[in-house]
Amino acid sequence: MMLQRPVPWPNGAKVACAITLDMDADSLVHIHHGAGAKDKLSAISMLRYGPDVAIPRILETYRKFGLKQSFFIPAWCIENHPHAVEAIVADGHEVGYHGYIHEAPNSLSPAQELDWMCKSIEIIEKHTGQRPRGNRSPLYHMSSKTPEFLAAQGFLYDTSLMGDDVPYFLETPEGRILETPVSWATDDWPPYVHAPDLGYMFPPQSPDRAMDIFMAEFEALRRSPGGVWVGVWHPFVSGRLSRWQRVEQMIEYMLDTGDVWFATMEEIANHVAQVTASGAYQPRVDTLPYSSENQVPEALTGKA
Ligand SMILES: [Zn+2]
Repeated sequence: MMLQRPVPWPNGAKVACAITLDMDADSLVHIHHGAGAKDKLSAISMLRYGPDVAIPRILETYRKFGLKQSFFIPAWCIENHPHAVEAIVADGHEVGYHGYIHEAPNSLSPAQELDWMCKSIEIIEKHTGQRPRGNRSPLYHMSSKTPEFLAAQGFLYDTSLMGDDVPYFLETPEGRILETPVSWATDDWPPYVHAPDLGYMFPPQSPDRAMDIFMAEFEALRRSPGGVWVGVWHPFVSGRLSRWQRVEQMIEYMLDTGDVWFATMEEIANHVAQVTASGAYQPRVDTLPYSSENQVPEALTGKA
């Protein structure tokens, strides 16, 4: 079966692939527990495995395969784990915006959301030399205002929504922004994250079992070319030894198919913008907001 709107990828590739790593580190325990975080030493240690142990391992793999990929990092983590971020930037990878300290944008007022976005952009620019081009909202918790704030701040793309197999555009009052969609099926949280201190109690799956789920999405996209496969992973989760060894096998397999274009999210977004401008791709455009008023008739409120 064909995709409705297949993207013409470079060199006839069937699938655009991006492993994106959200380096949340110990921001998660701070946003969850506030002042109580200092007494959650086990959780802190589990989360700091990301910048301290997993990032050097991940970067070594990318060097081995000659890949440039994208990392989404809360600004607080950039300030508190500068060495990990320096190494990511030194190797030429992309750093995108992922909140200030992993706060959920849809839990903030619009003014607060914009304020922390602007503060974080400054921190990212200071540490990486570039403003972020992309956004992934923490927990995918975009607010109704996020797309227009991103457009107003000059972002090129977002990657927090799940509305398609291919990139599409969000039309906002401040202009268009590209959405490169993700899926829970290629997110490493459900198969792996068992963290009682953070309120997650998923029984950890074997790396092969997790990879079965991720790769089912990949093989489907090979059979229906023109889509994008985005791994939404975390250094402290997928960067653990057995899991990352399995990821190396995955990268080798994907490259051996000859069907993939491995790219940063920025490269994917630039390519989509280019084929859209040339007319080679007719993207879907969603006009936001989807709904501004309560859609439930009053007589049905609370009747779920
Ligand atoms: Zn995150």
